Amino acid sequence: MTTLDIGAAHTQHWIGGAWARSDASGGIDVIDPSTELVLATVPAGTAADAHRAVRAARAAAPGWARTPLAERLRFLERLVRRLEERAEELAETITAEVGAPSLLARRAHVGLATGIAASYLDIAGRFEFERMIGNSLVVREPAGVVATITPWNVPLLLTLQKIVPALMAGCAVVHKPSELTPLNALLLAEITAECDLPPGVFNVVVGEGPVVGAALTADPGVDLVSFTGSVRAGRQVAQAGAGALKRVHLELGGKSASIVLADADLAQAVRATVDQVCFNSGQACLQWSRLLVPAERQEEAAELAAQAAAGYRPGPPRDPGTDLGPLVSAAALQRVRGYITQGITEGARLVAGGPEPVAGLDTGYYVRPTVFTGVSESMTIAREEIFGPVLAIMSYSDEADAVRIANDTPYGLHGAVWGGDLDRATAVARQIRTGQVDVNGGPFNLLAPFGGYKQSGIGRECGVEGLESFCEIKSMQLPDATSEPVGPRLRGGD
Ligand code: NAD
Repeated sequence: MTTLDIGAAHTQHWIGGAWARSDASGGIDVIDPSTELVLATVPAGTAADAHRAVRAARAAAPGWARTPLAERLRFLERLVRRLEERAEELAETITAEVGAPSLLARRAHVGLATGIAASYLDIAGRFEFERMIGNSLVVREPAGVVATITPWNVPLLLTLQKIVPALMAGCAVVHKPSELTPLNALLLAEITAECDLPPGVFNVVVGEGPVVGAALTADPGVDLVSFTGSVRAGRQVAQAGAGALKRVHLELGGKSASIVLADADLAQAVRATVDQVCFNSGQACLQWSRLLVPAERQEEAAELAAQAAAGYRPGPPRDPGTDLGPLVSAAALQRVRGYITQGITEGARLVAGGPEPVAGLDTGYYVRPTVFTGVSESMTIAREEIFGPVLAIMSYSDEADAVRIANDTPYGLHGAVWGGDLDRATAVARQIRTGQVDVNGGPFNLLAPFGGYKQSGIGRECGVEGLESFCEIKSMQLPDATSEPVGPRLRGGD
C-alpha cells in the first residue's frame, strides 16, 4: 500500500536554500521501472544552472567552514533523526524510481544510508582535526566546494556517503544525482533545510551527466569532485578535472570474484554468492559476478546456484512476495539481455534464467536471475560489468590459479573468499587486488573504508578515510626555542 504522493515530489533544482527554476527549456521524465509510467518531470539542467549552484556554494562555504564542529554535529544529529522520521517516504520514492522492492528499499537503501550518516556522529566527533607533530601544528581544513555526482543504483546511500563526511569536514556541496533517479535527492534537499542547514551549503542540480556533471567538473569554483559511476564517465571526469589539476575522487565499477576454496562449505558459499549477485536485481558495484570453484566441484556448484536462482521471485516491487525488482530502465534491460545472449553465443552453459521475458510480467523491465557455468576467462560475461542478476561460474586448478583468475581484470573493487580454515582463507584474501574482500561471509561494515584498486577507482569512502577525503592538510611550523631545526635553514646567514 503506497502512501506517497509522487505527484507532489519536488521537481526543481535546490540552490542557495530555495527551489530554483532552471534555464532549461526541456525536461527529463523520471520513469517508474515497474510500470513504465512517468512519475515526474525534472528540468534537463543546463551548464548555467550548475554554475549558479557553484556560486551559491562558494558564497556559503566560508561561513560553514568557520562553523564550530559541535554545531555541524548538531546539524547531523537532526539530519539522522529526520531521515529516520521520513524513512518510509524516502523508501517509497526509491521504490518508485529505482524499482527496489519495498523491504530492500527500507532496509538497505534507506536504513543503511541512515546508518552511514549516523556513523559520522562518532567519526567526526572524535576526528583529530588538529594535532602537533614536533613543532608543527597540523590541521585538517575543508577541501572547499565539493561537487558530488552519483549513479542511480543505490542513490540515497551513495549520496549520503559523500555529502555527510563533506559537510562534517566543513565543505559546501553541489550535488548532481543521476538523471534516472533525482527525486530522492530533491527530497533530501528538503530534509537538509528542515535541519537548519544554512542556505547554499547543500545544493542539488538535476540533469544529464555530460551537461550538468561536466559543467560542475569544469567549474573553477569547484575544488574537489567526488564521483561514483561507470569507468567510462569516471575517465571523462578525471580528464575534465585534469586541466585545473582538480582533486578528483572516483568510485567506479567492478567485476568481483567469489572464490570457493577446496575445504569450504560449498552450499553456503554458493547460496551467499547467488544472494549477493541478486541484491538490488544485480545492480551493485560490489557484485560477485564471477564464482570461482575447484574444477572437480563445478557441476555441483552449478546445480546449487541454479536452485538458488530459481528460488527468486521477480515481480512488482510493492508486492510483498517479490524479492527481485525490475532493472532501472529499458536500456538496462536491453543491455543485460544482450549479455545473456552473448554468454550463450560464446559457449557458456546456461543453467538458470535466460534472455526471455519473465512469464506473467509484460510491463516493467524485468530480467530472469541467470546462472552460467563452464565460463572461460576470455568470454565477455567473465570480463565486462553486466550490472544485472547474472552469475558466471568458472573453474580453477589450484589456489594460485584462483587468485590469478580473480585478479585478471582491470577492476579491483570487492570480492569474497570461502574456506574451512579462516587463516588460510584470509591469506588468499590478502592476495586479491581489491579494496574490500569478505571472508566466510563477514558482514558489511559501514566503518570500513570502501573503494577500488586499479580501474575501480581512486580514493576511499566511509569511515575515517571517507572524512579525510574531504580535507586539505596544512602544517604550520611554530617557533620552538628548545630544539634544533629539522632540515635545511631557508633563511639566515649561516
Ligand atoms: P554513469 O557513469 O552512467 O553515471 C553516473 C553519474 O555520472 C550520473 O549522475 C551521470 O549523469 C553522471 N555522468 C555521466 N557522464 C558524465 C560526465 N561526462 N561528466 C560528469 N558526470 C557524468 O553510471 P550509472 O549507470 O549511473 O551507474 C552504474 C555504474 O556505477 C556502474 O559501473 C557501477 O559499478 C558504478 N557504481 C560504483 C559504485 C562504487 O562505490 N564504486 C557504487 C555504485 C555504482
